[in-house]
Amino acid sequence: MKNLPVFECTMCGQCCEGEGGIILGPHDLERISSGLKLCSEDFLKCYGVYRNGKWQIRTGDDGKCIFFREGAGCTVHPIRPDVCRAWPFFRGNMIDSESLYLAKDYCPGIRQDTTFEEFIAEGKAYLEENGLVASDPKTEGHALLPASSTKTAF
Ligand code: SF4
Ligand code: SF4
Repeated sequence: MKNLPVFECTMCGQCCEGEGGIILGPHDLERISSGLKLCSEDFLKCYGVYRNGKWQIRTGDDGKCIFFREGAGCTVHPIRPDVCRAWPFFRGNMIDSESLYLAKDYCPGIRQDTTFEEFIAEGKAYLEENGLVASDPKTEGHALLPASSTKTAF
């Protein structure tokens, strides 16, 4: 991810921890499985888990994403899923200043003194520029904003 004034990842790995958040939409599945030279079925068998009607990346015994390595960070960084690319500009943080406040506490990469307005403006530009919007909420991460919302005011 290119460094943005309101956000610069410190690679602490906190957002790579825990079950359930790393949703694999159809584009993600194609990108990551072909990047690892696997067919989608084999990729999902090895690294996927189906939960609540969506495919997700599973965690390892340490409770972190199976692709996270201590000291190295994300081992699939160039082909990582859209939700990983979109953080911290998740739907909740973009519509609720309280959620952004909590996110600042959780993610050391978010500039502490950034205002909600700055965060939204930069987030919208970043999500749009990188195509990180949801077109099918049935298969894609709920955290991704729908395509229409990056073009309009909230
Ligand atoms: S929690 Fe924030 S700073 Fe830490 S790895 Fe995730 S995005 Fe980067
Ligand atoms: S794919 Fe990479 S960035 Fe996403 S949760 Fe896993 S290790 Fe973290």
